[in-house]
Amino acid sequence: MLSAVQTLTSEAVFLDRDGVIIENCDNYVRTWSDVEILPGALDALAKLADSHYKVFIVTNQQCVGKGIISEENATNINERLIDIIHDHGGRVDFAQICPHLSAERCECRKPEPGMLLKAANKFDVDLSQSWMIGDAVTDVQAGIAAGTQPLFLQTGRGHTQQKLLQQNDLADTPVFANLSAAVDYLLAE
Ligand SMILES: [Mg+2]
Repeated sequence: MLSAVQTLTSEAVFLDRDGVIIENCDNYVRTWSDVEILPGALDALAKLADSHYKVFIVTNQQCVGKGIISEENATNINERLIDIIHDHGGRVDFAQICPHLSAERCECRKPEPGMLLKAANKFDVDLSQSWMIGDAVTDVQAGIAAGTQPLFLQTGRGHTQQKLLQQNDLADTPVFANLSAAVDYLLAE
């Protein structure tokens, strides 16, 4: 029997962008020519699209706050990437950019969970049944702060960030070679 009040709740996979879907650039992704999609990432996103999970991109882009690129350009790069993801059978339900400087102490720049909480609110997401995938300790921290289960990738900054997991009491975070391996893991859970 249906209850009188039905709660429609979705589950989500939150994805960092740089170092997870595309190569990380030490001097920021400034133009479309800096975008290099990581091997297997599009196939992994296509697999995710066939699942019940909402798919969100949450990316810190301090380069906007520094005036290196405009917020419009940062958004355009995201949109162009999302078009390619869609062309390969993937899906991105909502993408957010934090344009702020770390010194601004905003609520959205990871490790703060603001972008995740905003998407969760907008899409009625059960965060305890959701995942955050990133290549930096700050992604893991944002994922935990939002109440999701974090997964860490060795792609992008992952090679250098992995040793910081232990220093930040995050050594129990599952670590994967790339997005494809992490998606296979969460879809099997
Ligand atoms: Mg990253």
